[in-house]
Amino acid sequence: MSELPTSSRRPAPGELTFAAPRRGMPPAHLADLTAAGRKAAVEALGHKGFRARQLSTHYFERLVDDPAEMTDLPAAERGALVGAFLPRLLEPVRHRVADEGRTMKSVWRLHDGSLVESVLMRYPDRVTICISSQAGCGMNCPFCATGQGGLTRNLSTGEIVEQVLAGARMLRRGELPGGDAEAERDRPLRVSNVVFMGMGEPLANYTRVVGALHRLVDPAPDGLGLSARGITVSTVGLVPAIGRLAGEGLPVTLALSLHAPDDELRDELVPVNTRWRVAEALDAAYGYFRRTGRRVSIEYALIRDVNDQAWRADLLGRLLTERGRGWVHVNPIPLNPTPGSRWTASRPGVQEEFVARLRAHGIPTTVRDTRGRDIDGACGQLAASTA
Ligand code: SAH
Repeated sequence: MSELPTSSRRPAPGELTFAAPRRGMPPAHLADLTAAGRKAAVEALGHKGFRARQLSTHYFERLVDDPAEMTDLPAAERGALVGAFLPRLLEPVRHRVADEGRTMKSVWRLHDGSLVESVLMRYPDRVTICISSQAGCGMNCPFCATGQGGLTRNLSTGEIVEQVLAGARMLRRGELPGGDAEAERDRPLRVSNVVFMGMGEPLANYTRVVGALHRLVDPAPDGLGLSARGITVSTVGLVPAIGRLAGEGLPVTLALSLHAPDDELRDELVPVNTRWRVAEALDAAYGYFRRTGRRVSIEYALIRDVNDQAWRADLLGRLLTERGRGWVHVNPIPLNPTPGSRWTASRPGVQEEFVARLRAHGIPTTVRDTRGRDIDGACGQLAASTA
């Protein structure tokens, strides 16, 4: 297609393999295990079973990571317990602050040297953290910085959960500047929302991501006790996995990265579309709503002169309304250009027209707020520029 760079080609269907992770998984961590699993593991190492609950309380409820503060663990056992259950999974590489201190992006080094990133965002009524589910990504979307480097490996459940905990601890220590320090001393900020919109395709790391969802929603001290409603899992549209997620009994929000309403263009922008077509992805998303009652979010990166035509907005509006009313909203995202790409965001008037057309079809539509653009905010950019 003339509107696309020559480097982007369509993979043959058999070429899209969900490659097995190449590098080793990290040490086991408390957050990898269910409450029962933790008790069994603690006992297997010769400790009293109730130590598992004490460790969980430190980790999930008190947000403590310094063994010196875990005074209820006998000094003689503390080192062994912390070493076995709370190994350090994320080493900070850099933190960058934007939006007058309301946004902080972190790059972390994993035990094998892989880099992943997370972004903490403070809003008047909530704190959202955007986290990674894989080191790299195998989905190969040409406009996404992470997609360019391929997949390194899946993250463990512990590595996924620990990104949220690291953010929660930073908030508790008042390390996200720019807030009302006085008010926050009385009522420390807490993470309220988690979005799987960092690096990786969460549904390609299904078991570990579902494990992480359980840790995030399980009440303290077994987990962090977040509301499932505050959690969003974003996917390119791995149809069987969407069906499976709908049956987990975890009413998290599903976001589908559509980016084009027609197969011809979506084959280019989201290569997994050659495996599961637009209609199948939308049917799966609608099924998710029917099963969970959670309104689905459709993500649509607006790319100038590529996918932002009024007819595409109308086609999208028709595809969504013909499946039902009130089941979906659309989140257009101004493209955050990645280095070396010739693509850029749509012109403001074109974006407005795109939004207006969707609304005319009765589709609630809100343009995604673009936090942290000045700190390589687009998916994978900060880790890529660090590497
Ligand atoms: N793999 C998952 C989640 C990670 S990306 C998914 O694709 O949904 C989260 C969202 O950011 C996706 O909608 C993705 O398409 C979008 N995105 C990636 N790169 C972008 C860029 N340069 N500008 C705007 N949105 C981008």
